[in-house]
This record gives sequence, structure tokens and C-alpha cells, in this order.
Amino acid sequence: MKISDIRAALAELDLTPSKTLGQNFLHDQNLARWIVAQLDAGPGDELIEIGPGLGALTEAALETGANLTALEKDRRLADFLTRRFAGRERLRIIQGDALEYDTRTLWPRRPAKVFGNLPYYVSTPLLFHFTSPDTPVERAVFLLQRELAERLAAGPGSKDYGILSVVLGRKWRIKLLKTLPASVFLPEPKVDSALVSFSQRKPDELPVCDTRTFEKIVRAGFSQRRKQLRKLLSALGDEDPLTPGHWSEISKRLGIADTARAEELSLLQWIALANIFTPVEPAAAQNGNSERFDVVNENDQVIGTETRATVHANGLWHRAVHIFVFNARGELFLQKRSPWKDKHPSKWDSSAAGHLDSGEDYTGAARRELVEELGIEPDRAELSEIGSLSACGATGWEFVRIYQACHEGPFRWPAAEIEWGGFFPVETIREWTEAHPEDFAPGFLECWRFWRANAPTGKPLDAPAGR
Ligand code: SAM
Repeated sequence: MKISDIRAALAELDLTPSKTLGQNFLHDQNLARWIVAQLDAGPGDELIEIGPGLGALTEAALETGANLTALEKDRRLADFLTRRFAGRERLRIIQGDALEYDTRTLWPRRPAKVFGNLPYYVSTPLLFHFTSPDTPVERAVFLLQRELAERLAAGPGSKDYGILSVVLGRKWRIKLLKTLPASVFLPEPKVDSALVSFSQRKPDELPVCDTRTFEKIVRAGFSQRRKQLRKLLSALGDEDPLTPGHWSEISKRLGIADTARAEELSLLQWIALANIFTPVEPAAAQNGNSERFDVVNENDQVIGTETRATVHANGLWHRAVHIFVFNARGELFLQKRSPWKDKHPSKWDSSAAGHLDSGEDYTGAARRELVEELGIEPDRAELSEIGSLSACGATGWEFVRIYQACHEGPFRWPAAEIEWGGFFPVETIREWTEAHPEDFAPGFLECWRFWRANAPTGKPLDAPAGR
């Protein structure tokens, strides 16, 4: 939009730009196109625009051929945009707070990309809302206050390097693309701006570590920038592995000075430090030769035992459980398998699932998996068996018993096994499994089909079926 278009639109709406809503409108059309080009968007992409205002970036985004959902809090602007873009089929305008937008609904519509000239008063919460670890968003481009942009893109040793750079940097490659003077906006803000891009890192790009521990130590480490890390971390309490004398050993292992401060550690060193607090051994997820399973015949009767590796290499029939955990809203918890798993890495799976150990029965295995994978103790969730599947290629030659439980979380999962997890509305999972079956472990898809066929209301099944 040209500056004259913006003035005309504001006059037509009798609107004085609101400081509270951070309304500073971009009036450089070439810049608007260049910003949108950084999304690398095209037909089939699902774009989300935060705060479209009068539509400067919206127009350029529509030119890419992608679908676009624009989230505008100010009703007068949302109504204006509805009139301005009337008849554009690929555009949906939602009047409301972008912080309330349910990003889970984007999973079925991937690839999803987010952009916006963000209102400065709420930039940081918006950033976290759309880029938090469980997001389906794979690329984002944001115009931000320059100071915030510099903090996001900073590296070790710089005064801007801190919690934002490290915590968000673990999931995203963050680049400061361009700084912009205040003069490209109407009205002019008091500070300069900068354009920042976020591209999601590949799942196995960095070593695995426990996310909660990582974030906890990063936050503690940067809580007082002038203090040495050893002092800040030793205040963390019970889980503290920093017994006297131990820190010098750790700092040697990390390749940092004994007296190091938080800003001296690289992302890889923070990950290594998290792994000292909460060790995660990717190899533990594989257990190739130590685990033994019962091998069964076509009637699910035990006929011997074999190692996990032999069972899988030879397609021998064996046994497994899948557990669907629902919350009170009827949403199903799905886990995302760790990128380090030997089978179906980074795929979405049942709330908890696993093989029966040799000699174990199905219900015992289901109880054990709830404890091991989600930290749910047996007395905290009633398990009911809801059905079974016969062994076939799609179940990985497993006879499967499916269980259901109710629990609100939060859950604690082992990072070597599970990368992330979250509750999803059943309708979202239905759309998602139809649009992107490749996102899911095949065993889950079989259990999901069974559950859909037996839960016509889309609510958790009332009573155990059979058995
Ligand atoms: N995209 C337009 C442009 O570049 O000219 C406007 C950008 S202006 C900096 C920020 C926009 O975000 C405003 O239109 C404002 O009304 C809107 N906004 C403010 N808070 C919001 C929120 N919580 N959710 C959605 N939109 C919001």
C-alpha cells in the first residue's frame, strides 16, 4: 500500500492508529513483496498472517498462490479487510487475538508458514505461541523491534545472547535478514525494526536432550548474567549434579573455563550440559540385543522367545499394547517419537505404546508403558481394554491390545523415546490422518481406525468391548 492509500483508508474508517494495539502500517510496496518472498511460499502452502492491519503484506501474500488465514484483533480493520479482499477464495479473515489461535488445527493443513509485522507490545508472547516446540509451523518471518530481533539472532559472547537465542535457537535457525528505519511505517514508531526469519531445524540436526532440563538450566544460567554459571546452577536444588569438585570436571568436558558465565556457552554446550543433568542415551531407545520378546503363533499363543532384533528382522509374530489417553475435553494425547528411535523415528504415535516383555501379560505391559513413557502411576489412571488387532504387516506383525485411560497430564516422558507430545481434538486427528498419513507410525493408524470404527460419537469409548 502507498502512503496515500493508507491515509485514505484511515480517513474512510475515521480511525486514529492505536498505540495500544501497536498499529504502525507499512507503506513500501516493494518491501512488502520482499518480506513475503522470504517465506518461500507457493500454492498448497498454508499461511497465517498475524495482525494484517490494512493489508499491506496480505496483498503480497495472496500473490504467492498460497492459502492465507489473517488474524486481526481490531474489528474495524478486520471488517475493512473483509470488504477490501471480498471474493478472494484463498483468504480467511478471523477477527480476534492471534494469541488465542489454536495452532494445532494447522497440522492437517501443513506445510504451514507464519508471518507478520508484529505489534510490538505483544511480540514475545506471539513468537512463543507460534514457534513453541509442538508447533506445526515450519517457517516464519516476522518484523520485530530491532532490539528483540538482535537478541533472537545473537550468538555466544555477545551481550544480546540470552534465553531467547538459546531456547528458540534449539528448534529454529534464526536469521536477522534486514534492519528497517522507522520511516517505512505510518505512523513512525519510536524505534527501528528488523526482519527475522525462522526455519525449523531438521529433527536429528542437534543431539537429543531433555527439553525441560535444557530450558530450566538455560533460564537459571541467564537469570543473573554477571554471575558464574557454577554458582547459578548449584542453586537449582535436588536434581543438582554439581557436587563440590564436580564442576571442574564438567567444565573440562564442555571445554569451558571453570569461571564461565552463561553467555560463553554455545548451543551445543548447553545441550551437553543438559545431558549431564538429565542423561539421555539414544542407544537406550533401540535396545537391539538385550530385550527379549515372546514369539507367538497365529492364535496369539506363546511358542518361544527371541531378541527384539531377531523378532523384527524375521517378521516373527509378537505382542504389543497401545494406550489412548484422553483428557476431560475428550482430546487424545499423541506422542511424537524421538528422532533416535530405530523404528518410525519422528512419527506421531499413540499416547503410549510398547512391546510385551517376555513372560508379561497385556495389561501388565499397558500399566508399565504408562509409567515408563508418560510417568502415570497405576493408581492415577484407570485403564480399560477396548479391543484388539490381529498381527499383520501394518501392525509390524504384532498382536495388539488397545487400552484407554483418562488423565489431564502434565506428563513426563523420556527424551530418548519421545520428542514431544500433546492433546489433540479428535476431529483434528481425523483430518490430519487423512491429509498426512505419512506423519504417523503405521501401528497407530491401525489402532486409530479401530477406535474410529468403535467410537461413532468421537468420544472416548464408554465401556470395555468384550474380553
Ligand atoms: N500488517 C500491517 C502492516 O504491516 O501494515 C499492520 C501491522 S501493525 C504493526 C500490527 C497489527 O496487529 C495491527 O493491525 C493491530 O491491530 C494488530 N494486532 C495487535 N494486537 C493483535 C493481536 N493480539 N492479535 C492479532 N492482531 C493484533
